[in-house]
Amino acid sequence: MHVGFIGLGNMGAPLARRLCTDHTLWVFDQSQTAVDAFTGADAQVVKSAAELAESVDIVLTCLPTSEDLRSLLFGDQQVASALKAGAMLIDMTTGDPGITRDLASKLVMDGIELIDAPVSGGPKGATAGTIAIIVGGSDAQFARALPVLGSISCNVLHAGDVGAGHAVKAGNNLLNLVCRLASFEVVSLLVKAGVTPENAVAIIQKSSGRNYATEITLPDNILSGTLHQGFTMGLMHKDSSVALQMANDLDVPLPISTTAFANLKKAMNEHGQESDMSAVALTYENDSGARIRP
Ligand code: NAD
Repeated sequence: MHVGFIGLGNMGAPLARRLCTDHTLWVFDQSQTAVDAFTGADAQVVKSAAELAESVDIVLTCLPTSEDLRSLLFGDQQVASALKAGAMLIDMTTGDPGITRDLASKLVMDGIELIDAPVSGGPKGATAGTIAIIVGGSDAQFARALPVLGSISCNVLHAGDVGAGHAVKAGNNLLNLVCRLASFEVVSLLVKAGVTPENAVAIIQKSSGRNYATEITLPDNILSGTLHQGFTMGLMHKDSSVALQMANDLDVPLPISTTAFANLKKAMNEHGQESDMSAVALTYENDSGARIRP
């Protein structure tokens, strides 16, 4: 199948690489550095997003935000008018369900299908072919997208209609934020109480407090001292904001999540929105006086 991928950043690049084996792949990114990383890969690098859209039947996007997708489609790059009638656009951005539904309703008038398929599991999960792909679309759209998404991962999950993928992903990331910050908080406490960070994390990971932060984030990114996950505070802020906006619209109180969000904002003010999410641990170190890193 002829497939195109736009947005070859930290997340998009490893997702796109998985497609080279099974499909004829066209790629584009507005950053020359991101495109250069594909030189030598089994993919056709094109000069514009519109050229890519004209060449393929299925386009995948992985951009920072839904507003970036809106501007790619209807702004200067004019991708909406370049897409073939009958084409499918699969948006792997962690996006906003309301904007996704709005864009889908505009594109359908030109015979183009838009579905959402955000991912969870990071660049590591993408490279391994195990990343969770959370799809929002009809049963027929899910069936159409599966041969492409199945080349990326063995974990393609159908969340519901268009927008449901983005809703579930936003909720998942809010929960990840809560668990991550609660884990930093408790590990800081245990270090202050005289336990080594390695022992605290290893023992919790075998006990009832285990979660993604004790399994992956703390061992791989904090205790290793790398302080690098490849996911910025700005992106986590965007994802949590989408979930909190949904809660506001639906009148659902989220007191624990709201506190975690305030702590994320504090860390982001200290380190900057382009900082890796791992740097949140530094804020907990400063506040507690307990060193978690080596
Ligand atoms: P990134 O900033 O590393 O990459 C985004 C890429 O999109 C950049 O290369 C940028 O040049 C490109 N881009 C932006 N607008 C464009 C346009 N109009 N035309 C062409 N290229 C354009 O971000 P990322 O970490 O890859 O994240 C992308 C999405 O994936 C975000 O929505 C993020 O929330 C989500 N996500 C990221 C991770 C992660 O661990 N990094 C995990 C899960 C989900």
